[in-house]
Amino acid sequence: IYILAIESSCDDTSAAVLSNKKVLSNVTATQKIHEEYGGVVPELASRAHQQNIVPVVHQALDKANIDKKLVSAIAFTRGPGLMGSLLVGTSFAKSLSLGLNIPLIEVNHMQAHILAHFIEGQPDGAPEFPFLGMTISGGHTQIVLVKDYFDMEILGETLDDAVGEAYDKSAKILGLPYPGGPLVDKYAQEGNPKAFLFPKPKVDGLNFSFSGLKTSILYFVQRETARNPDFVQENLKDICASIQKTIINILMDKLKKAVEQTGITQIAIGGGVSANSGIRNALKMAEKNRGWKTFIPKFEYCTDNAAMIGIVGYLKYQQNQFSKQDISAKPRYVLSSK
Ligand code: ATP
Ligand code: FE
Repeated sequence: IYILAIESSCDDTSAAVLSNKKVLSNVTATQKIHEEYGGVVPELASRAHQQNIVPVVHQALDKANIDKKLVSAIAFTRGPGLMGSLLVGTSFAKSLSLGLNIPLIEVNHMQAHILAHFIEGQPDGAPEFPFLGMTISGGHTQIVLVKDYFDMEILGETLDDAVGEAYDKSAKILGLPYPGGPLVDKYAQEGNPKAFLFPKPKVDGLNFSFSGLKTSILYFVQRETARNPDFVQENLKDICASIQKTIINILMDKLKKAVEQTGITQIAIGGGVSANSGIRNALKMAEKNRGWKTFIPKFEYCTDNAAMIGIVGYLKYQQNQFSKQDISAKPRYVLSSK
């Protein structure tokens, strides 16, 4: 089975070709334009997708060395995401499925971040059901009970900002360019995590909150800069390390709670923040100290990519879960149980 997959939910235009669970190609055009604005501008994202989608799909087919006539089905991201961005991928996928006369398969982007673990060749292999998924990305922070491929239950999620957003907003306060998450991570690795103390939010159950942290970082930086205008410059690595430690502690505390509640010790993370060195180290420590089995995706399957859409496409193809031609994009697509 060959699946052609398309992802266009936010600011990355991506196409991939899979042969069953194996990724033959995974091509992503990242949109640089948003850097100038310090965040994703929906209108510009949509236009860039329109420009990128045809060349990106061609490149994915070329790299895989697969003629489009051999493609068995087309999978696309239906949501969640930005309407204008989703529309480009959705319309393109529908047209191509009609033109090639092959099935169309809609994919929930958040399911895909979790099911990316079933791509062949992931370093930790594939988890077994049931397992706990933790999706940590630019728009979401969720702990999910994964009972089967398409039977997932959200146990907890953020009540305000997502963890990636917390990283990016903190980075912005420190004067770092967008998206600042990876930069905070980079400096954090060279700094002292105990240099500064930021409060952890008090949120019941398995839910998260990150907006208070952002505010306390802002006030902290404003206060210190009033005393010493070079404070951030002089202490950048220590500030980043302290922010990173606070965020990772928040995530790990909730994960421990989820393990206690469910008795499940298999943990699979997904989403852009899974690329973070702090969470990767913390999980590896938990394998040693707590006997958990943890699954960390390959770097290229952490941030938005079409390969993860393709693996869901393949799994749905096997179950004959096809979509009709009148399907429409769904910006607020909740990760439901079916
Ligand atoms: P969603 O999947 O919720 O719709 P998204 O697709 O925009 O959101 P992803 O592409 O999965 O999000 O992740 C992007 C986020 O990951 C950004 O906020 C970015 O700063 C963050 N990120 C990427 N690498 C790192 C890192 N090493 N450390 C911290 N954050 C990181
Ligand atoms: Fe994503």
